[in-house]
Amino acid sequence: MSTSEQAPPSVAPAPRPPRARRASAEPARAERRLAGIPVCPGIAIGPAFGAAEPPAEVERRVIGADDVAAETARLDAAIAQSRKQLAKLRARLAVLPEDSQAEIAPLIDAYLQMLGASRLVRGMRRRIADALVSAETAVADEAEAIAGAILALPSDDDPAGRRRRAEEVREIARRLIRNLTRAPFRSFAGLPEGAVLVCEYLRPADAALLDPSRLAGVATDEGGAEGHTAIMLRALGVPAVLGVPGLAQAVRHGDTVLVDGAEGSVVVNPAPATLASARRAVTAFAREQQKLARLRRLPAETADGEAVELQANLELPAELPLIAQSGAAGIGLLRTEFLFINRETLPDEAAQVDAYRAIIEAMAGDAVTIRVLDWGGEKDIESLQSEGLVSPAADANPALGLRGIRLLLRQSALLEVQFAAILRAAVAGPVRVLLPMVTTVAEVRAAREIYERVARRLRRRGEKLPEPLPPLGIMIETPGAALSADALALEADFFSIGTNDLAMYTLAVDRAETEVSHLYDPLHPAVLRLVQFATEAALRMRMPVSVCGEMAGNPRLVPLLLGLGLRSFSMNASAVPRVKQAVRAAKSDDCVRFARRVMEQSDPTRIQELVLGTAPP
Ligand code: PEP
Ligand code: MG
Repeated sequence: MSTSEQAPPSVAPAPRPPRARRASAEPARAERRLAGIPVCPGIAIGPAFGAAEPPAEVERRVIGADDVAAETARLDAAIAQSRKQLAKLRARLAVLPEDSQAEIAPLIDAYLQMLGASRLVRGMRRRIADALVSAETAVADEAEAIAGAILALPSDDDPAGRRRRAEEVREIARRLIRNLTRAPFRSFAGLPEGAVLVCEYLRPADAALLDPSRLAGVATDEGGAEGHTAIMLRALGVPAVLGVPGLAQAVRHGDTVLVDGAEGSVVVNPAPATLASARRAVTAFAREQQKLARLRRLPAETADGEAVELQANLELPAELPLIAQSGAAGIGLLRTEFLFINRETLPDEAAQVDAYRAIIEAMAGDAVTIRVLDWGGEKDIESLQSEGLVSPAADANPALGLRGIRLLLRQSALLEVQFAAILRAAVAGPVRVLLPMVTTVAEVRAAREIYERVARRLRRRGEKLPEPLPPLGIMIETPGAALSADALALEADFFSIGTNDLAMYTLAVDRAETEVSHLYDPLHPAVLRLVQFATEAALRMRMPVSVCGEMAGNPRLVPLLLGLGLRSFSMNASAVPRVKQAVRAAKSDDCVRFARRVMEQSDPTRIQELVLGTAPP
């Protein structure tokens, strides 16, 4: 699914009758506990926002007679996509308790029916053809007309039922409009302070728009622990649980929701006793954070005095203060996608120079590793599409398509602009440049050629550049790259092991897909052997190697990674203190022995027991 579950737009000036509300006579709803994937620790308690939100307004658009076929095709595509989303939701209900299934399934069936050969769909098509309006306008107008007619039915004894049916029509219109506009979560501006965002799916670009100072927490039906949405939420420090089946259908707007991002639970309408114990946990969590903050000034070294580099990953400039507080020694992975998302046009060289320079200056002499654009996978970037640099057809299998360095070499002007901006900003402090999604030696050579050509051009222009040029390194995040690490080590200046994608591509498990999240296992022996192979290739060449995937931020993995010979880790800023604590408790020799024991195992369950101290659920 590629659309967000934003509060959907409707079309002005369609009348906006009052939203269906719970009848006041309705009894308080019982507590309901749902389980999902823990994504960002912390406890949030607040009113649910997102489910059945009032529509925001979008521009009313009139079309020409020539556009009717194209608009009808857009509508049909949105209907097909909406049906697919609902069918997927329907299939996932099987994991819920029977009473929850009985409540939610008929609702989804009603939605599916409305998207079939219904009066609603016929009316929308007719409006495009006869009233000559855009698909969005037709959807909103027809839904409002039908909802209005339902509400105006001669009074019977079931006004609550009529309001519910009218709301169902509006809900299906909202879904269609979301799928038609594929717009980011515009309604965040109206997010009430202290609310918990509840929705089916949140794109990474949507998550980037959240304001962590206003938002209490996030819970979604879809998503995986190492997807970019999860990474973004951890970066923002928002307590979050993803992959909760049936969630958006089970929660009503305004319900009180409790999200426990460490445990992976969501409680809807918590009972007073549940709330009281959650509040105690909030206090304990804050105390623990304070204790960890004291580690900030202590050196990152093992108990036997070996220095370990602990750096932070950065996805949004808003994280800079968190990075400063965390005690991280620089930025080991600056994901530059934030510059490209949620905008119509691409950022030019000057805008990029300003953004990189501000970050480099904020790090005050600590190194910053800037990764060039990693488009692809779940990270869809509208500006690349609107500028015609990627075709919508590239969506078919984005993780295996024109992702990362592949796109940048195909659209080399994009890479030239980014290299130029990084090189110009690099006079402000120590920088390294990182290439994503590398699989072949030829890609590194081609990128280096462009890098040096851009540098020559800038120097000719009189631009002052660092001498020598910043090191040019590569992500090791595909099995192909890991297994040719010895050859790649001859071309690259450093390696950064991206265990998130490495696990995804090795195990053929989409890192953001809830359905297969139980199979996503970075501790799988196949993944660990690739990490070991790449690390040893780098160490043999005395080449810097670090880990920047989410594995690096898990304190329980520290002994294993140290034992494999790794001494540099880059992670979510909030993970730095705990990882430092684990580093300071570790002894190098013990770690080597422990890693040897782990690497002898071929059974993933046994490895989980050894490393995490528990068998997987
Ligand atoms: C990785 O794949 O491990 C990585 C760090 O890159 P990203 O998460 O941005 O894909
Ligand atoms: Mg990656």
